[in-house]
Amino acid sequence: MARIAILVVLFALVSVLLVPSTVALLAGERLPAPSVELPPTPGAPPGGWPGVGPAGSGGGEAGLPAAGAEPSTPLQPGGPAGAAQLPGEQTLVTVYDEEAHRLLQMPLETYVEGVVAAEMPAGFAPAALQAQAVAARTFAVARLVAGAASCPLQPRADFCSDGEHGQAWASPAQRQRFWGVLAPVYEAKIRQAVEATAGQILLWQGRPIEAFYTASAGGRTASAKEVFGLDLPYLPSLPSPDADRPAGLGVTRLPLAKAAQKLGLGAGDLQAGAPAADGGSNAQPALAVIARTPSGRAAEVRVGDRTVSGEQFRQLLGLPSTLIESIGVQDGNLVVQTRGYGHGVGLSQYGAGAMARQGYSAEAILAYYYPGTRIAHLPPGPV
Ligand SMILES: [Zn+2]
Repeated sequence: MARIAILVVLFALVSVLLVPSTVALLAGERLPAPSVELPPTPGAPPGGWPGVGPAGSGGGEAGLPAAGAEPSTPLQPGGPAGAAQLPGEQTLVTVYDEEAHRLLQMPLETYVEGVVAAEMPAGFAPAALQAQAVAARTFAVARLVAGAASCPLQPRADFCSDGEHGQAWASPAQRQRFWGVLAPVYEAKIRQAVEATAGQILLWQGRPIEAFYTASAGGRTASAKEVFGLDLPYLPSLPSPDADRPAGLGVTRLPLAKAAQKLGLGAGDLQAGAPAADGGSNAQPALAVIARTPSGRAAEVRVGDRTVSGEQFRQLLGLPSTLIESIGVQDGNLVVQTRGYGHGVGLSQYGAGAMARQGYSAEAILAYYYPGTRIAHLPPGPV
């Protein structure tokens, strides 16, 4: 059991180390948005879910962080059942600021403000920021309850600023630098989102949930089971109104020689075997998705005469996600089209942004992405 848990954590750590480097829009080549069943929600507009909107309309405002520094290190599964001893709303946490090399102490709510600022564009609608605040607070509290320090650089810290060690956190100085003249507006907006949800966390069977979130699920979220091997009923695969956000199809282009090198293939292997991007294909392409997960993500990819996992393939090529739409060759480049951004588990930030613009409340967004959970308040006080 311990070995499995370690493998899961290692896998998750490795999975966040690769940031996609060559993502671009392919204009005019979009798949139809999936049809999505609407939950009956007060405040929903007639017609329900948004359809295909302009790419990036959920965010992307100048000077704002791109959504997507998602947490993806699960706690070890199999904790004790029953209610957890929750920290108080005013509890103090220690945060290691890796930019300033300083160990800081601050109230939990102040920490949550820095996480929301770092993890979601402040231009998103208030309900989306509120949902993000609850998810971020829940993710943090679950780690406090587990006593799981997450930063390898500073074991004394409860949390750190590096999204690869947990959730990203932006210091007030970083926010000022990042937002420039808009800083007062965005600071107020994020503070309001955190205050509107002060002390709120998500519980399942009396315990804080593993509140994973992702930048964009590309039209359908992945279950925790298919990505992390964790059987968590509140993290199923769900339709998500983010098929075209933040940017429709992600297109990763790599010169064939470079791609072959990254994949451990010979220089001519891709040219000889890969299917043509215009739809033609050879009988035995060097690269092909040969098995998919229930949400449509690549589970196994053939690479020459080997088979690698979809996650390994994503890492080798630096793809935004394992939701691979096509693999082809065009103008001397390997071209891989993907949908979504990130591991796809839990709340989709761009999906939450779309729901918020359609009038859904933070509660409705959270109830949709984390079904079966309930919102609870941390006990008042410092402990
Ligand atoms: Zn760290």
